[in-house]
Amino acid sequence: MSPEPTNPKPKLKLAIYWGAACGGCCVSVLDTHEKLLDIVAAADLVFWPIALDIKYRDVEAMPDKSIDVTLFNGAVRNSENKHMAQVLRNKSKILVAYGSCAYMGGIPGLANFYSREEILKRVYEESESTLNPGKVRPLTEYEVAEGILEIPEFFNDVFPLNKIVDVDYYIPGCPPQSERLLEVFSAIVSGVDLPPKGSVVGANEKTNCDECKRKKTENKVIDKFYRPWEIMDDKETCFLEQGVICMGPATRSGCGVRCVEGNSPCRGCYGPPAAASDPGSKMMSAIGTMINSNDPAEIDKIIENIVDPAGLFYRFSLPGSILGRKVI
Ligand code: SF4
Ligand code: SF4
Repeated sequence: MSPEPTNPKPKLKLAIYWGAACGGCCVSVLDTHEKLLDIVAAADLVFWPIALDIKYRDVEAMPDKSIDVTLFNGAVRNSENKHMAQVLRNKSKILVAYGSCAYMGGIPGLANFYSREEILKRVYEESESTLNPGKVRPLTEYEVAEGILEIPEFFNDVFPLNKIVDVDYYIPGCPPQSERLLEVFSAIVSGVDLPPKGSVVGANEKTNCDECKRKKTENKVIDKFYRPWEIMDDKETCFLEQGVICMGPATRSGCGVRCVEGNSPCRGCYGPPAAASDPGSKMMSAIGTMINSNDPAEIDKIIENIVDPAGLFYRFSLPGSILGRKVI
């Protein structure tokens, strides 16, 4: 006699969405390679604009909380991103800010060093490749014979996801390491106790410096800062000790220090470690202890060598930082 058929475990419903993003986070899901088959075996993908032709109206028609997990990548830059963040929050049991842009604003968040007007003026009037004698700007609504065409409203600010809706978990990285995504996904599928709401998952508590294999010297001081191409990296000494800004001291570990392993300084895409809330101030404090002078004029001279410090220290994190944006 054949055994009684057992009810298979119901599949999760998974959604993946992109706001203001480059697409790299979606590619990181594909980078799970054949493990993607395990994801699809455990979860039905109910929405994924990069891969599935499912319309916004289909998602809007889903019952509230009918999606088990949504990975929202990308920042919130315009009214379309905001609308979909609100829709997906309502439809999802677990909403994950996936990647640096959803977590902290990411690279698109560097736009918070400018106002909306400055950006539109530059793009539609001043850029070297623009020919726009009528200074035409995009309109959110435009009437044509067939009806009204609409495009989303471009906001003054770039927002991390949690400034728009309640977020359950954060997976950092630009993009997150695919292995970390698989770990988090397996934990959700297997139903193990998840960490408290609001946790950063798929990463560690400490800094990249704690995991970095480069040689570090106690009390090393810096006389001059260099851009990476200005020195011959010896491939074994800490970048900071060689005078090259490396965001390792202000960055949460979990990526395997992959940039430094590839002989490039860390740029901070995993965000601040658990013990720090603001990567820029943490980095300034780390550098402040290494400058080889007590003379304010000389300190200024040494610091002048750091090109674009705000853009460097807040490269992935300005909208989610204490500063949030440049006050204009
Ligand atoms: S500053 Fe960069 S190179 Fe130096 S120990 Fe930290 S992660 Fe490694
Ligand atoms: S080394 Fe730094 S910039 Fe590179 S992936 Fe890791 S956290 Fe991101």
